[in-house]
Order: sequence, then C-alpha cells, then structure tokens
Amino acid sequence: MDLFEYQARDLFESHNIPVLAGAVATTADEAEKAASVMGGRVVVKAQVKIGGRGKAGGVKLAQDAADAREKAAAILGMDIKGHTVHKVMIAQAAPIAEEYYASILLDRANRNFLVMASVAGGMEIEEVAKTQPEKLARVGIDPNVGVTLDKAKEIAKLGQFPADVQDQVADVLVKLWAAFVAEDATLMEINPLVKTEDGRVVALDGKVTLDDNAEFRHANHADLVDHAAANPLEAKAKELNLNYVKLDGEVGIIGNGAGLVMSTLDVVAYAGEKYGVKPANFLDIGGGASAEVMANGLSIILGDADVRSVFVNVFGGITACDAVANGIVSALSILGDKATKPIVVRLDGNNVLEGRRILNEAAHPLVQQLDTMDGAAAKAAELAAK
Ligand code: GDP
Ligand code: MN
Repeated sequence: MDLFEYQARDLFESHNIPVLAGAVATTADEAEKAASVMGGRVVVKAQVKIGGRGKAGGVKLAQDAADAREKAAAILGMDIKGHTVHKVMIAQAAPIAEEYYASILLDRANRNFLVMASVAGGMEIEEVAKTQPEKLARVGIDPNVGVTLDKAKEIAKLGQFPADVQDQVADVLVKLWAAFVAEDATLMEINPLVKTEDGRVVALDGKVTLDDNAEFRHANHADLVDHAAANPLEAKAKELNLNYVKLDGEVGIIGNGAGLVMSTLDVVAYAGEKYGVKPANFLDIGGGASAEVMANGLSIILGDADVRSVFVNVFGGITACDAVANGIVSALSILGDKATKPIVVRLDGNNVLEGRRILNEAAHPLVQQLDTMDGAAAKAAELAAK
C-alpha cells in the first residue's frame, strides 16, 4: 500500500523524524482553517499518489490563510497525470537553503535493503543517478545489523553532504531505518530532505510503501487505506478474498492459477483485436475452486457493467475438472437470474471428460463449452462484440 504524503508525514513524525507541521484538508474551507491555525506562510500541496506534483502545479506557496483558501480551491479537483486531487495538505512553509535526498528501499534484485542518499535532491533521483552519479550514495544494508550511526555517517559522507549537516542527516537515516523496520515498509523516501535557512534538516516530502503481507501485525495500517479510491468491484472482491483486478475491457475472465489467468488475458486480447474487445479483468480463483468461490467470482464479474461475455478457463489439477464443473453448475443456480451474460467454458486437465459431461448434461442456456483455449477466447471475444 502506498501512502499519501500527509500520512507519510504523520508516520515520520511518530518515529521522531524531523518534519514540519502539516494538516490535511478536503475543502477550501478546511484548508483556510488549517492555515490560520498554523499561522504564517504555508504550502498547499496536492495529495495524489504520484510524483512530480511540483512541476504539475500541485504545490503552491500561500502567504496567509485567505491565500491558502484560494490556492486550495485551485488545486482541489485538479488532474495530475490521471489522478484527481481530492485532498490537499497544508504544510508549514520552510525557508529552504538546500534540497537533499534520502531513501531506504527493499532491493529485490540483491535480496537486501538499500539506502540511497544524495546532496542533490528535489529533482527525481533517476535524474541524479544519470547526471551526477558521484553525488549519490547507494549502500546495501545487512538487515541483521541495520543502519547504525557509524554506517549512517559513512553514507552521509558518500552522498557528499556538507560537513555542517552530516550529523543531522545521519540521525535522520538512523531514524528512517527504525521507522522502516517498525512499520514493515518496502520504501521510505524523503525528497526533498531540506536544510532550512536556520540550519535545521527537515523532511519536506515523504513517499512510503507499506508491505501488505505484514498487514496482520499492524492493526493501525487499516486506517491508512484510501477507500474512496478503491474500485467498488475490487473492494468487494477483496472482501471475498478473491484475487481480482479490474481492467477496462468487455470479456470477463476467470481462471485458476495466476500464470494461466495472465496467459488467458493475452489470448483474449489477441482474439479480441478483430472485434475491438479486450479482457475486462484479472481473476484467479486459485487451486481449490469450490462452488462458492466460483459463484463469488462469477457474481463479481457479472456485476461489472462493462462485461459482455465471460470466459472461464480452468486447467484441472488437484481440484479436478468435474469438481470445477459442479462448481459452475451450482454457482449458476446460486446466482439464478443474476447470471445474464454468455459464459464460455474451457476445461482441460485432470478428469476433463467427466467435467465436460457434467456441463453438457446441465445444458445451462448461457454456457457453451470449447475444447481449446484459443477457440474459447475467440468465441468469448465474438460474443462480447455482439
Ligand atoms: P513533488 O514534486 O511531488 O515531489 O512535491 P514536493 O513536496 O517534493 O515539492 C516540490 C518542490 O516544492 C520541492 O522540491 C520544493 O522546492 C518546493 N517546496 C515544497 N514544500 C516547500 C516549502 O515548505 N517551502 C518552500 N519554499 N518550498 C517548498
Ligand atoms: Mn518530492
């Protein structure tokens, strides 16, 4: 889960990383109130989970509360790279002397953690890596040791931070590591980390990704979920424990196994070119496709107004085709007249003949069977185009 900047700010604060005052607002009214409580100049910042807000006009300095109201009104509702702004953060303005960069991330390629730090911040770090690589420290971290103060000082030196801020930067790195571990993050980035004109080092912008696999040990992380942004079908699928991703096509897809479902998406996309239709979703019902799981999957897909046909592509393994076929038949009886769209089924693998026989015998008017994946994809695409 990616956090909004204001959530990252709050999280940093709770781990004693130096930040400035910040408050979130969803209306110009709230923005004005927050700014007047804060007093003085504030920065109004679009809260979207995408970088480059500054350049897109989503970060604006306001002289006072009335100005903050105006700036918030201009930023709220703005579109930044396809993300609509629903919230702004009112941040206490900092007179910036220098902009730096610091981050910790999970380095999957090296099966390790990586700290990056640079005296050159504010811009995208990829840019620094390309144009001033000598100013970017990239240091692997042994998770059993972590970021010790000595290690942090070494990183600050490597990142070419000026001597007068090295200790403060090292302190931020040590605290950032502690926060990273405590929150089970996979990314914590501060860009810019700034030196203010009075010489303090402060995190001005934060980007945090939390590891969803560690959700079970962080009850409070549930509060950070952005329910407004969740697609309602995806939210319902999540409640049902289904692996579902909404896409923008017309052919609903159900399969067992992520690999099979992904190749099904490819085959349907290819077959659909002729008709101008595409896969409507990813849905992996996993190995043990019980009738209930099949019914849940079908109900999600049939609830998608964009779907015009459904392709059920199952390769029987431990759960054999006859069990899947029975699952489809009972799913359709559970759904009753909520099932309204043509369903193309391709069964193969363990006990395929019995599976096909069960579906033939049930002779549901919406269901037709094809023996091959390509044939079934073509049929589903054709039906979606009708
Ligand atoms: P991003 O463009 O989405 O990464 O947004 P940032 O929060 O990093 O802001 C972009 C830029 O706006 C920063 O690099 C700063 O130069 C500037 N900025 C952000 N907050 C402040 C602030 O409090 N005071 C001043 N003077 N500039 C700020
Ligand atoms: Mn930034």
